[in-house]
Amino acid sequence: MQCPKCREVELSDVVLNGDLTSYHCEKCEGDWLSGERYQAWQNTQDRPKIVNTVLTNLDEVVEAAETDNKAALCPECRRYLSRVKVPVDQPFYLERCPECSGFWCDRREWDILQKLSLHTNLEYIFTSEWQQKVRDQQHSVSERQALIQKLGKDLAVEVFDLGKKLEANKNGDFAVAYLARQVTENS
Ligand SMILES: [Zn+2]
Ligand SMILES: [Zn+2]
Repeated sequence: MQCPKCREVELSDVVLNGDLTSYHCEKCEGDWLSGERYQAWQNTQDRPKIVNTVLTNLDEVVEAAETDNKAALCPECRRYLSRVKVPVDQPFYLERCPECSGFWCDRREWDILQKLSLHTNLEYIFTSEWQQKVRDQQHSVSERQALIQKLGKDLAVEVFDLGKKLEANKNGDFAVAYLARQVTENS
């Protein structure tokens, strides 16, 4: 089997994670996960019920691989691989064959997916549901950051705590109305 990105280079078997072997390219250091192998391995894994959408807690920023932007054909069935953006600090594309459900990870992508606990649910990343959840999550993170900037950390944290309490209280909206009135009257 040849590397979908480097073409002329033969892929060789490499252990990726426990019982999961990939077809690895020595040249670009990418990995092909055949659909069959991946699904068999996936079934042996303890998979989280809720797939992670918090993509901001990577402790390192990793540059996307040079091969990341290159379109490629499936090394098994020659179909064009479909791509989906994983929007971390340095976004990258994960690729999947629509025919045989194999995945291509460019250099370091598998490590990042593992760190994000996404590696056991790769097909879910391709759903619009996951993409939307990630956007919502990112929106709420930037909203909180803006609040910290405007109010200072201490007050912002109090507001977050209060927000949680009011959310849990069935009459929370009365408190919100009170606060809104209080703040607009005095400003
Ligand atoms: Zn390669
Ligand atoms: Zn394929």
